[in-house]
Amino acid sequence: MKNQILKLECIDITDEGYGVCKDSGLVIFVREMLVGEVANVKIIKEKKNYCFGIIDELLISSPYRVNSSCPIASKCGGCDLRHLEYRKQCELKESLLKDYLKKENLDIEVKPIIKADITDKYRNKVQIPVKDHHFGYYRNHSNDIVELDYCLSQSDNINQIYAYLKEELLLNNLDTNLRHLLFRENKKGEVMLVYIASKDISKELENLNEKLLNKFPQIISIILNINKRNDNVILGKEAILLKGQNYLQDELNGLTFQMNYNSFYQINALQAEKLYQKVKELANIDKNTKALDLYCGIGTITLSLADQVKEIIGVEIIPQAIDNAKINAKLNNIDNVKFYCDDAAKDYQKYLKDIDLLIVDPPRKGISVDLINYLNNSNVSQIIYVSCNYKTLIRDLKLLQESYSFDCIYPLDMFPNTLHIENIVLLSKI
Ligand code: SAH
Repeated sequence: MKNQILKLECIDITDEGYGVCKDSGLVIFVREMLVGEVANVKIIKEKKNYCFGIIDELLISSPYRVNSSCPIASKCGGCDLRHLEYRKQCELKESLLKDYLKKENLDIEVKPIIKADITDKYRNKVQIPVKDHHFGYYRNHSNDIVELDYCLSQSDNINQIYAYLKEELLLNNLDTNLRHLLFRENKKGEVMLVYIASKDISKELENLNEKLLNKFPQIISIILNINKRNDNVILGKEAILLKGQNYLQDELNGLTFQMNYNSFYQINALQAEKLYQKVKELANIDKNTKALDLYCGIGTITLSLADQVKEIIGVEIIPQAIDNAKINAKLNNIDNVKFYCDDAAKDYQKYLKDIDLLIVDPPRKGISVDLINYLNNSNVSQIIYVSCNYKTLIRDLKLLQESYSFDCIYPLDMFPNTLHIENIVLLSKI
């Protein structure tokens, strides 16, 4: 079957963004094919019960297809939906969420997705892999690098610095021990650059750093992170400040936030503001409320709610992020907060005593069954669950149903052109 070309019509789309086609009972998943499209499809991989294909020639195009204007969109694994009109991307995300809720038999109203006003150049953080003199993102489901010269999701600022840096690194043979380049940028356009290398190459980088700072005064921080590990964890433990300051500062909804290179910060700052506004709007709080923000990062949600509650605690596992959070409380003159560095999955109990409102914003794996059981037997009257993975969110909601009720889920588009969806749910004790 491999390499055969079949004329197929796309009848559906999967939650990984593949078009679904059928040919006499056989299912063929086709990358970048949209519902209603007809194409000559080349089979590229054959499995027992299904195949993968790519469009060889598009015969009937969807009215919602747009020219993605990215030269590597079909190869790079970064964006799944760049070829689909933005309004339709949002509809698709809503319907994928609804389909999954139906499959999991969870009755909850899906509110219209909170759309992004800007769908390109929105990423304030990028990590670009470097391997064998190639710089770029990984091909989907692979470790091959797709050569990247510029990326439409990155700002012009980062694209320019990246292009210059890549050329200089290659020219001077400085990329051999490099594993990744990491860029972070704030709304003002100030940039932090982190080289991630397998050994200390600070001396070799000295000249280049001088040139960079002269050419791009917006670079306010250059750091070298050393990662000697053999796995795919990006950051190592050791870091050396090469130039400037060791943090970046940004503003969200009028509050100031400092972050270290390894602290979590939402990748799309404008959508993060909407996320925090929604959390604030959903929370039933007053000056008697005691709140806890588990998985608090640099304290963004914690500090956003502080002025409306009696007190709020933030808990986070990364020590530098907690250092940032404490500084952030000071920078914003907020004194009814406390921050602790701890494992929220294990040590939640000591923070949950007398808490009225709990906010959780865990990583993709969701929250632990232990925490769920504890909450089901607790007096915590409200929970706001912020999630970047609706599958684990729905798994956790099904367990929390035992003693919490919830009416609706608010999807938010943090990552335009990809299939990711951020979600917010308010749960109230029954
Ligand atoms: N609400 C914050 C951060 C959310 S991201 C914001 O919007 O900026 C999730 C955070 O959880 C990250 O900062 C991550 O470092 C932290 N984290 C991951 N596992 C954790 C654990 N077991 N205990 C506490 N924090 C954890």
